[in-house]
Amino acid sequence: MDSPVPFRQLYIGGAWVAPTKGRYLDVINPATEQAFTMIPGGTSEDVDAAVTAATAAFKSGDWSRMTGAYRAKFLRAIAQKIREQKSVLAKVETMDCGKPIDEAEWDMDDVATCFEYYAGQAEALDGRNSAAPAIDVGMAEFDVRVRREALGVVGLITPWNYPLLMAAWKVAPALAAGCCAVLKPSELASLTCLELAAIAEEVQLPPGVLNVVTGTGPDAGAPLSAHPGLAKVAFTGSAATGRRVSLAAAANLRPASLELGGKSALLVFEDADVEKAVEWAMFGAFWTNGQICSSTSRLLVHQDVAPTFLEHLKKRAESINVCDPLTPGCRLGPLVSEGQYHKVLSYIEAGKADGASLLTGGGRPSTPAIGTAGYFVAPTVFIGVTPSMRIWREEIFGPVLSVATFATEAQAVEMANDSEYGLAGAVISACPERCRRVSEALECGIVWVNCSQPCFCYAPWGGIKNSGHGRELGEWGLENFLSVKQVTKYVSPDIWGWYSPPAQQ
Ligand code: NAD
Repeated sequence: MDSPVPFRQLYIGGAWVAPTKGRYLDVINPATEQAFTMIPGGTSEDVDAAVTAATAAFKSGDWSRMTGAYRAKFLRAIAQKIREQKSVLAKVETMDCGKPIDEAEWDMDDVATCFEYYAGQAEALDGRNSAAPAIDVGMAEFDVRVRREALGVVGLITPWNYPLLMAAWKVAPALAAGCCAVLKPSELASLTCLELAAIAEEVQLPPGVLNVVTGTGPDAGAPLSAHPGLAKVAFTGSAATGRRVSLAAAANLRPASLELGGKSALLVFEDADVEKAVEWAMFGAFWTNGQICSSTSRLLVHQDVAPTFLEHLKKRAESINVCDPLTPGCRLGPLVSEGQYHKVLSYIEAGKADGASLLTGGGRPSTPAIGTAGYFVAPTVFIGVTPSMRIWREEIFGPVLSVATFATEAQAVEMANDSEYGLAGAVISACPERCRRVSEALECGIVWVNCSQPCFCYAPWGGIKNSGHGRELGEWGLENFLSVKQVTKYVSPDIWGWYSPPAQQ
C-alpha cells in the first residue's frame, strides 16, 4: 500500500482515537482498483464520543462565545495550510475519488478560498451584532434588536464527489458562526477530510471544535443524523439518503438542511454560438467525470441547430482526454467505485432498451491510455431521448448526456421544468431578453446564462423540489449555522403601569 498521506484514526476531542469496534475500511483507487490505505470504520459509540467532545467544546464558550475575529484567525490559518499542502491534498483526492488531478487542484484552491471567505464573514458578524439596528416596533418604550449566535453542535454529512470541498462548504461557515461540528465524510472518499482534521490540529484549533468520524452511512451517518445532542444536521448527498437524514433529525425536532441530487437541463437556442455552446454542454455533463449534483445532464437543443450541434458534440466528446487521472491534462477519469460503475452502465443499458440511440460512448473507453483496470466510462451521449425514459428522469451520476430537441421556447421551458428535481438550469442564447425570460421561468435554485457549472463561494447554492432546501455558501451559508435571538429592552423612565398600584394606606 502506498499512500501520499499518513494512515489516520478518528479525530475526536483533539485526539486521534481508534474506532471503538476496531473496524477499518479499505480505500480503493478507482483508476487501478487497488486498495492503497485504510480509514477507520466509526460506529455509534464513536459518534457519541464526538458529539460529547463537541458539546463540551461548545459549552466551554472558548469558541462559541469568542469574537468572530478570534475564530477568523483559525479559519485563515486552515486556508493557508490547505494552500501549502495543495499538491499532496490534490493527489490524494484524485487517488481516492478518481477526479482528474487538474480538477482536484482547482478544488483545493476553492477549499482555501471558502475558509478565507468565511473568515471574513466571522469578522463581519462581530459588527453585525454590535451595531445591530433597532427594529421599529412602534413603541418608544422598547429598544428591540437582534443578535446572531452560534446554533450549537452540528452534524455535517458529506458525499464523495467533492470530498474536501463539500466538507469545506459546511465546516467553514459552521466554525465561523461559532458552532462545534462533527463531520462524517463519505466512506468512499474520506482521506482529505482526515487531513483537514490534521490541519485543525496543526493550527491548534481548540479540541472538540472540529471532530471527524469516518465510517459507512448506516454505521456512522445514521447515528449522527439521529443524535439528540445536535442542534442541526447539514447534509449533502442523494435524495434517498436525504429523506432518511431529514426524518431522523425531525424525530428530535431538529432541522436538517438538504443539498440533494439533480437532473438539470441546458437549453440551447437556435441563435447560440455552436462551438461555445458545445463546450459548455460538455463541461456541464462530463466535468467531475459527470458525477456532479448540478450536472446539466439533460440537453434541450433547438431542432434547427440540432444536426450541426450534434455533429460538433460527437467530434468534441470523442476527443476528450481520458487517461489516468493523476496525469496533468486528463479531462475524464474513472467513476468513484465499482458500484457506481455498474450503476452507470445499467442506466446506459436502460437507455438503449427504452429506444434512445447512442451518438457516442456507451461503455468502456477504447483508448490505449487506460489499461484493463479502473472504473472508466466513455463520455456518452444519447439522442432521441423522450421525457418518459429513465435516462431523462433519473439522476445517473456519470458521464452520460441525454439529448432531446424542441421547437419553441415554451416547449423547452416546460420540458426542463418537468422534473422531480430543481437544483440548476442553464440557457444559451444570443438574445438577452430570452435569457432573462428563461432564467425566470426555470424552476430551480441556480441558473447559468451562456455557461454551465461555474460556482463561487460568495453566491448562494441549493435547490428546490427533491433537490433539497436551504442554501449553502455566501452569507446564506453562515445563516445556516446561526440562531437569531431577539433582545428587547425596556427603555422608558416610567413605570409600566398595567396594574394599578395598591391604594395608599
Ligand atoms: P449518499 O446519499 O449515498 O451519501 C452521502 C452521505 O450520506 C455519505 O457520507 C454517506 O455515508 C451518508 N449516508 C448514507 N446512508 C446514510 C444514512 N442512512 N444516514 C445518514 N447518512 C448516511 O450520496 P453520495 O453517493 O455520497 O453522493 C452523491 C449524491 O450527492 C448525488 O445524488 C448528488 O447529486 C448529491 N450531491 C448534491 C450536492 C448539492 O450541492 N446539491 C453536491 C454534491 C453531491
